[in-house]
Amino acid sequence: MEQQQVNNNKLTLLKGGQNRIRQAPKSQPKKADQIAAELPGKLQTTLLLDELLPLFQKQIGQVLHFDSFHYLNKALGSQIDEGEQRHHRCHYKLEMNGEYLGDLTLTRRHKFTEAQITLLEDLLCLLVYPLRNCLLYKQALDSAMLDKLTGLGNRAAYESNLQREIELAERQKTALSMVIVDIDNFKAINDRYGHQGGDRALKTLANTINQTLRRSDLAFRFGGEEFVLLLSNTDIGAAGMVAERLRVAVAETLCHDGKHGFNFTISLGLAQLQADEQSYHLFERADMALYRAKQTGRNVTVCAPAGITLAD
Ligand code: GH3
Ligand code: MG
Ligand code: MG
Repeated sequence: MEQQQVNNNKLTLLKGGQNRIRQAPKSQPKKADQIAAELPGKLQTTLLLDELLPLFQKQIGQVLHFDSFHYLNKALGSQIDEGEQRHHRCHYKLEMNGEYLGDLTLTRRHKFTEAQITLLEDLLCLLVYPLRNCLLYKQALDSAMLDKLTGLGNRAAYESNLQREIELAERQKTALSMVIVDIDNFKAINDRYGHQGGDRALKTLANTINQTLRRSDLAFRFGGEEFVLLLSNTDIGAAGMVAERLRVAVAETLCHDGKHGFNFTISLGLAQLQADEQSYHLFERADMALYRAKQTGRNVTVCAPAGITLAD
């Protein structure tokens, strides 16, 4: 059997980016020169990583045969795996001015020749700047969607996820439930333990939510001391159990703000998405259930009945 070719390389683009741009070898076909000339313009057409890498893959695929294409940047949660992995591989750890940009790997059945590796590295040099721009853009978007205090998604993240989750549930004919969580008497916590105590309660609740939910569940800080959970593949019965587990866990958790230790409770309102229901209506029903939970005396979970209309 042919010995496996494993090229582990670090591709570092130094300031100015002129270090690795070489003249194409004489044997390099004209097509490769053309792709290299057009590539920067094509890669500049997007700031989205999910578009940039497939674009790069398609372009280099015209001059270099490979069976699979992989990109991984664990820290940013970005991963692309295209095609079936083969025996021989070319792997690059991409860096620019000491900044890590991700790991890129191509694999195929046959060994890569020296000329092909040279060509690939020249093309990768053209990817590095656009890739860095995409990563910066993604970081900016991610942080704009994040609530700084709790680390959960914020209201903007909620808005952008809700419609997608509803469409997914309708397409796949699966249940989707919404839970609105509100800290009881939060004003009193602020009054008694100060703003820091209030902030500590918000962080404690976010941690307890993270520990209680499944990985596929989504949690957002909707505003103030109100949080929204979106539970996919979960009907109202199962959502009720999740909500109760959360309610009990919060009530049993001691909250420390450095000086004081205190307990607090939450009230929860739930609703399951009905057929053809609009997102705002689902929210209204869950919010109405939360209102009832507060009226009932707090530290309680209330489920919205199915088919209820806003006039009810
Ligand atoms: P209820 O049980 O009916 O929900 O009463 P509540 O006191 O929790 O609700 P209310 O709406 O009366 O008061 C909410 C308080 O939350 C008012 C505001 O000072 C406080 N708050 C809102 N956002 C923040 C925040 O980010 N940090 C802190 N510490 N407090 C906040
Ligand atoms: Mg409250
Ligand atoms: Mg509130």
